[in-house]
This record gives sequence, structure tokens and C-alpha cells, in this order.
Amino acid sequence: MLTGNTPEQPARLYTEPPITAFGNASRQFDQAAHVLGLTDNQIAIVKLPRLIVQANLPVKMDDGRIRIFQAFRVQHNKARGPAKGGIRFHPDVNLDEVSALAFWMTVKCAVAGIPMGGAKGGVVVDPAGLSVTELERLSRRYVAELIEFFGPDVDVPAPDVGTNAQMMGWMMDTYIMHTRRYTPAAITGKPLEIGGSAGREAAAARGLLFNVQRWAQRTGHHLRGMTVAVQGFGNVGSWSARLLAADGCRVVAISDISGAYYNPDGIDVEAAIGHARANRGILASYETKPGVKKLDDAMHVLELPVDILVPAALENQITVKNAGRIRARLIAEGADGPITYDADEILNQAGIPVIPDILCNSGGVTVSYLEWVQNRIGLFWSEERVNRDLEEIMDRAFDAVYETAQHRGISMRMAAFVVGIELVVRASEARGLYA
Ligand code: GLU
Repeated sequence: MLTGNTPEQPARLYTEPPITAFGNASRQFDQAAHVLGLTDNQIAIVKLPRLIVQANLPVKMDDGRIRIFQAFRVQHNKARGPAKGGIRFHPDVNLDEVSALAFWMTVKCAVAGIPMGGAKGGVVVDPAGLSVTELERLSRRYVAELIEFFGPDVDVPAPDVGTNAQMMGWMMDTYIMHTRRYTPAAITGKPLEIGGSAGREAAAARGLLFNVQRWAQRTGHHLRGMTVAVQGFGNVGSWSARLLAADGCRVVAISDISGAYYNPDGIDVEAAIGHARANRGILASYETKPGVKKLDDAMHVLELPVDILVPAALENQITVKNAGRIRARLIAEGADGPITYDADEILNQAGIPVIPDILCNSGGVTVSYLEWVQNRIGLFWSEERVNRDLEEIMDRAFDAVYETAQHRGISMRMAAFVVGIELVVRASEARGLYA
């Protein structure tokens, strides 16, 4: 396709649309809608986010200055239950990204069979640049400002990139102080002491492990001795490295914003986690450990010849630029949206299976749901019980996606969209259109 053909603007070859998270999400949706044969009415009902809230939050800094933080909450769809999804604190947060993440939450909850819809929140901020007291005021202000959109039966936030259990604790407290009702189910991913669930912190990674185990079982592979590279060393990346190593894999590379670290004999994941913890959460200078080499370019962590690649950082990491250089035998997506739509095509053609984000990292929201259930009935379950329920839910979700992929001859990603979107459409139709 050619664009622009005036003397001032010579014809240019069309390559690919600009990569935006919602652009990718939208192309994924359209393809799934095509596979499902959705009608225009069905598409109209489930494609776009239903509610978009944007706010400018004034927060007092420790030095007395007032800073304004741009904040978002997007509720994509609530046909199957109250909206659910994390809140991201990151300098690159924008409405396009939050909308894509909210859409993926809708499908993620449906694929996992959780009776909830999809939402996502975000604040444009580098949390590492704020003090603890500033982070507390920002977390509280976020909930206070958007309070009418939240609630256990409305929309239930949780942690995401840049947020953690402590922040959820402040958010829950703010919600309770405003509503004057003790409602821990308003927020999930809280500290254990105030109604958090056992197993929630590791849940996204444990779900990823269960998915990889199920994939191995169904395809006749053995995880023991398999090599792993992990991009990102936040909650999902560090826990995935830890759990895969504990399951007998050899984690040969890890990375974070400070760089990528490689040891062909295997990284000591526990030591790396200890190093990061003692080093303001980052792996910087980890190459000083015996046998560890720092890669020239952190992005090369994605191109190592490993059995399992776990992208667990941010969106759009594997694009048309590097997809052809991926040498992993399996990709298990810890992050949301790490592979662009066009890169997906390249990986499909290369025969590299991808366990997609909306299935692979859904353990986080699944245990959030189990936390919400426990809060509502006022009972607490052991970690064993939570992990057992998680495994059952993940296995069921994996099987549904895997079988749909086999049956229809499509990728696991497309199969996950097909399974999830069909459930959302059916729920919408069963409810009917009000007024
Ligand atoms: N932020 C996580 C996700 O995107 C968890 C969301 C939740 O627990 O609601 O899946």
C-alpha cells in the first residue's frame, strides 16, 4: 500500500501501523471477532471501554510544593461482574495503554472463569522518585478522587507495575474512611494483616508456572533442566525466576532497568533477589558475582537460545524488529502485551508457541478474586488451599485455550481471545440491552 504521492512528499512504502498498546489490542480483537463471526452489534457491545475516567491529582510533596499527577481509570466491560484490574504507577502510563490493559483484563477474567469484568488504572509517575510519605498521599488521593467508581460490587483495584501491597493497604483504608463501612473486598492485593490472601504475592508467577507445566504435560516435554531467560525483575519476573528454578529449570538470564545478566551455568535466583532487595530493588552491579556476565544490550535477554523465554517487563518488547531473532522454544508471557501483533505473526510462522498474557499471567487476578471471595465471606484459607484452587483454575483455563487452538488451528493467543470474548458476548446477550 502506498501513501502520500505529491512532489513534496514522495511515495513511501507502508510498513506497519505505529505500535500502540490499544492498537495491538484492537487488532487482536478484530481477528478474534472474525474467527468467531461476531455481528456488528456484538462487536459494538464488547470492543470499546465503557467508562474512561481521567483526573489531575494534586499531591503535597515533602518540601511543601504541590505537584499534579495525571491519573486514569478505565472500566472496559462489566457484563460478567464488577470490573477488576490493577493500578499502574509508571512515567510512561497513558490512556491508550490503560485502555488496552483494561480490555485485556476483561478477556483475562473471562478466560480464567472469574465472574468479573475488566478495568485498569494508572498514574503518570516514577514511584522511585517519591518518598514513602509522598507515595502514601498519592495512593490515597487516587482513591479519594475517584471513589464513586470503586467498590466491591463496582470496580476492584489491585497492584500492578509500580504498586504494591502497602499501597493497596492505604487505598483500602482511604476507601473505608470515606464510606464508613469496613469493606476489605474493595481492594485486593492487600497486606495479609488487613485481609490480603495467602499466596497473592506470588500468584501471577505461580499461575505462569502452572501454565508452563500444563503446556509441558500436554506437549510431552519435561521442565527439569530446561533453560530460562526472564526479562523484568519486578513481582512477576522475580517470582517466575524463583518458581521455575525451584521446579528444576535452569534460569540462565535475568534483567531489569539496570541491564541483563547472564550465567550459562545458572543464576542463583535467591541470591539475585537478595541482591536487588539490598540495592533499592534493582539488579545493578550483579555482574560482579562469580560467573555472571552483563549483556551489552539489555534487550538481548530476549534473543538468547533458551528453552523458555519469560517476558515479564512491559508491553511492545518483541516487535517486527527483533521477532526474527527469538530463539526460545516457548514464550510464557508474564507481562501484558509484550509481543506486538505483527511480531506475533513472525513467531507463529517460526513455530514458536506463545502462552499468551491473558492466560499465562492470570494467576494474579485469579488469587485477587479468591481474596475478594474470602473478604466477602469473612473466612481465610491456607496458602495450600489457595494454591490448589489456583492450579485447578489455571489447568481448566489452559485446557480450554489449548483445545480451542488445536480444534480451530489457531495460535493459543487467538484461542484465548476467542474463548474469552465469546463468554463476554454471551453474558452481554443474556443480560440484554437496558432501555
Ligand atoms: N495487575 C494484575 C493483572 O493485570 C492483577 C490484577 C488484579 O488482581 O485485579 O493481572
